[in-house]
Amino acid sequence: MTTIRTTCEACGDIELVPDDLWLELEADEIEGEYIFQCPYCDQTERKPASQRVVTILLASGVRYEVASPMTPTRLPSTPISEAEILSFAGKLDNENWSEHLEAG
Ligand SMILES: [Zn+2]
Repeated sequence: MTTIRTTCEACGDIELVPDDLWLELEADEIEGEYIFQCPYCDQTERKPASQRVVTILLASGVRYEVASPMTPTRLPSTPISEAEILSFAGKLDNENWSEHLEAG
């Protein structure tokens, strides 16, 4: 079985198996945190998991949870601007969609 090396605040370097820990991922994020209970001192620790760590842990068969925020944090803070609308309209022009309509 895969062994995962990590560090416990109290015990130092420890080795875990995938069943000993789980990942908490943010929705739409590849990074997150992993949580484990140290098998030596029973202390629960939470550590940041970089994209690389997440990839390794998932490949090892570690469980994961995706946090589903109750309030979306990515609502646009400003209403769509006129420039953006013009840009969008310009894209429509570039794609000649009136031609598509005639062809369809
Ligand atoms: Zn420990």
